[in-house]
Amino acid sequence: MKINDLKCAMIGRNLIVRVVSDEGLSGYGAVESFKASLKPQVMALRDVLIGMDPSTVERCVRKIRARGSFKPNGAAVSAVEVALWDLAGRAAGLPVHKLLGGKVRDTVRVYNGAMRAPMTGFGVEDFRAAALYMRDQPEGFTIVKQGIAFHGSMKNRTGLHYGAAQPGRSFPGTIVSGMLTEKGLDHLVACVAATKEVLGKDIGLALDCGPGFTPVDALKFARALEPYNILWLEDLIAGDYTPYVQADIYRDISTRSLVPIHTGEQIYLRQNFKELIDRRAVHVIGPDPFDVGGLAELKWIAEYADLYGIQVAPHGIGNGLIGLAALTQLCATLPDNFIAFEYPAGEPSWWYEILEGLPDPIVTDGFVSVSDRPGLGIDFNVERTLPHLGEEDRDFFQ
Ligand SMILES: [Mg+2]
Repeated sequence: MKINDLKCAMIGRNLIVRVVSDEGLSGYGAVESFKASLKPQVMALRDVLIGMDPSTVERCVRKIRARGSFKPNGAAVSAVEVALWDLAGRAAGLPVHKLLGGKVRDTVRVYNGAMRAPMTGFGVEDFRAAALYMRDQPEGFTIVKQGIAFHGSMKNRTGLHYGAAQPGRSFPGTIVSGMLTEKGLDHLVACVAATKEVLGKDIGLALDCGPGFTPVDALKFARALEPYNILWLEDLIAGDYTPYVQADIYRDISTRSLVPIHTGEQIYLRQNFKELIDRRAVHVIGPDPFDVGGLAELKWIAEYADLYGIQVAPHGIGNGLIGLAALTQLCATLPDNFIAFEYPAGEPSWWYEILEGLPDPIVTDGFVSVSDRPGLGIDFNVERTLPHLGEEDRDFFQ
C-alpha cells in the first residue's frame, strides 16, 4: 500500500486532512478550529509523503516531524499523523487503540471542553450561572472546566490586575499579564467559591487561568483556593500559544501548592515535555494530540509522566468530531495517570449529520464508549458532506 495523495478541506470550523492510498482506502485527521489558516502547512507535507507506505506510521512521521513546532505550528504534522493511524487501522481491519497497544478501558472520561458556558460578564453571579449551565448539561460531566483570570476575556475586566496587553505575543489573540490587584485576587476567589457552591462535591472543578499570572500571584491564588479542592489550575504562567515551557517557574509554584498545577497544551514533541516531567515541575500535563505531534507522541509522553506520578488530561477543545474519535481511541490506551480529555464539539452542528460511527448519545454520565470499528471508527457520509464543501475543496472526496 502506498500514499498517492494528501488532501485538505475546510469542513465547518475544522480543516480536515485526508491521506489517500493506492488501494482505495483513506484516513482522516483534523486541524484545530482556531487554525484554519494552516492549509498551506498541511499541503507542504504532500510531496514528502507520496509513495510511502501509510501503515508504517512512524517511518512516515519521521519524514515530516521537523516541519512542526509549538502551537499552532505542530497542527499540520499532528493531523497527518492521526490520519495515518486511521488509514493503517482501516487497512488492518483493526481499531486504532489496538495499533497503539490495546485499550485498558472501555469507556473514557471527558470534561466539558467545548460545552463551556458562554459568559459576557465576569461577576460572581455570572460564574454562578456558568456553573449551573455546565452542571445541567445532558452529558452529565463529572468534571467541568471554567476559564478565569487571564484566560479568555476576563483579563479585560477593569481593576483585576495592573498588567497591559502584549500584542504580538500570541496567536491568534493577545497575551495580557501582570500583577493582580488586591481586589482582583479577592474577586477571583469569590468567583471560584460561587462556582463550587453550585457544583457541590459531585462535580470536579478545573480552572483555565491564563497564561498571565506573575509567579507569586500564581502561588497566592493556588493557596487561597486550597480549601476548595480544585482539580487543577491550568496555564498560570506559560501555556496556550506561548512557544516555550518555563519549567523552573512552574516548579517553584508546584512544590508549594496543594492545588494541582497543570500545563502543556501548546507543547510540541516529547523532548519539550522532558524538563517538566523530569523535574516534576507540574502535577498534571495537558498535551493536545493535534498539537504535540500525534497520538503515538502523546501516548509516549503520558507513559513517561506516569513514571513520575504526573497525571494527564489531554487538551482537545477545538478538534471537532474527528478529534473526538481520535482522543477516545488514544485515551482508551493511556496508563492510570489518565484523568479525562477535553470534549470537542462538532461545529456547526450539521457535523453530527455528516459523520457516522460515533455513539448516540456520544456522552453518557460523563463517559464516551470506545469504538472497536477499524481505524478511528468514523466515516463521512459523502453525500451529506458535499454541500458543505467550498468551491476550492469540491474534489476532496475524489
Ligand atoms: Mg487551556
